[in-house]
Amino acid sequence: MGESTSESAGLAGGRAGHRRLAELIPLVLDAMGAGSVERGGPGPAGGPAAVAAGVAALTGAEPLAGATGVGAEQALSEMSRLLAAGSVDPADPACAAHLHCPPLAVAVAADVVASALNPSMDSWDQAPVASEIERELVTLIARLCYPDAPAPDAVVTTGGTESNLLGLLLAREPEPAVRPVCGRNAHHSVARAAWLLGLPAPVLVDCDGERMRPAALAETLRELGSPAVVVATAGTTDTGEIDPLRELAAVCRRHGARLHVDASYGGLALCSAKLKPLLDGLGEADSVALDAHKFGWQPISAGLLAVRDAADLSSLSVRAEYLNADDDTEAGLPDLLGRSIRTSRRPDAFRMAVTLRALGIDGMGALVEHCCATAAEVAAMIERHPGLRLWGAPTLSTVLFKPVDADDELVARVRRTLLEAGTAIVGRATMSDGVWLKLTLLHPHASAEDYRPLLDSVVAAAAAQSAEVVLQ
Ligand SMILES: *Cc1c(COP(=O)(O)O)cnc(C)c1O
Repeated sequence: MGESTSESAGLAGGRAGHRRLAELIPLVLDAMGAGSVERGGPGPAGGPAAVAAGVAALTGAEPLAGATGVGAEQALSEMSRLLAAGSVDPADPACAAHLHCPPLAVAVAADVVASALNPSMDSWDQAPVASEIERELVTLIARLCYPDAPAPDAVVTTGGTESNLLGLLLAREPEPAVRPVCGRNAHHSVARAAWLLGLPAPVLVDCDGERMRPAALAETLRELGSPAVVVATAGTTDTGEIDPLRELAAVCRRHGARLHVDASYGGLALCSAKLKPLLDGLGEADSVALDAHKFGWQPISAGLLAVRDAADLSSLSVRAEYLNADDDTEAGLPDLLGRSIRTSRRPDAFRMAVTLRALGIDGMGALVEHCCATAAEVAAMIERHPGLRLWGAPTLSTVLFKPVDADDELVARVRRTLLEAGTAIVGRATMSDGVWLKLTLLHPHASAEDYRPLLDSVVAAAAAQSAEVVLQ
């Protein structure tokens, strides 16, 4: 190995690792700063072609890596700059399309030590203290979801998709003939989970607006007559609405159906005493999906699945001699393998634990409240705006709106125009009455006023698009 190669291959851990990181991390941070200035807005200008050209300019006609490397310093500096310049940054209020949060600095900093030491959560001998910290975190989350249950538990997942898969898996294990049932408002990952598990496609239950109708669910369960697992949603992807959980839980109980609540979006509103009533009945569910990479402000991924009865998780138990031999378990080594469907697993719990310890539950709840209050104010601004129409009052932090008199095509074009200009990253939602623009507000510090330029740019883009159509 030449001098530069051996330096480039320096380790993050060990006695010298922190010193090597102290050399490299400032390069990353400087490049991130420079790249963000270069970008100058919430996203890169020019759309896919311009972004691809930026990458091509770095590599030339060569592949990304040749036989000889450029060294750690150069690779980090140039590629970090490229990443920052070409990313959309959810820390800019005008980047508000998806449930895509700006991570807290404390969580990202915690990830440095977690990545450097690289605990793997599949066996105690790879993660002695990280597994204890994870145990503390999941106990806290389980208690948050199930304050009244005698033995709740929770596991860490990659996000709502995996949590919903596990929710259906835990229902299928004791009951292979279980039929999945969900509202028409459910996330697409529910149908995918059924498909992956070899279950029939979910039976869809009608909604009242965007909320599952308890009477329609009762009717569905009566007609099915077979064991069912019902998936309710607490915070829908399109509008942030919350199903009537307590009523749905009562219907499930009457029909002997299992209830999984997909609270990937709304779940951490449990941290706020003020917002908690929105989730009334959540504790009646058999399992709950939550995502701390939405409300929770964690880097991806940070999913959780809570279960009312820890015994349900025994379905995930598996033995692998090299990871959890019986005699090791009998000798007192915690058996971690059955706490996930993954094997190697990042210590995502560590940064969630650091964040919650730093902010406290109330501090986390205050950030959720801020987003929801800001969404209400932005909705009021839209209502007063002569150029805009509001879809309806937000439940959590999602606001749907569109320029007045805009047809679906214009709405879609306005979104793409702003995206390609790098001016604003706005989402879309197709509702029964057509296509709407969507803002999913996850910025924990932005005020309603910070969204005014975005609203004005939507109106301006709509006017420019309409003028163009007239000219054509
Ligand atoms: C985000 C979300 C999902 C998917 O979660 P991932 O973390 O992206 O896997 C599922 N359901 C709902 C309601 C969501 O908001």
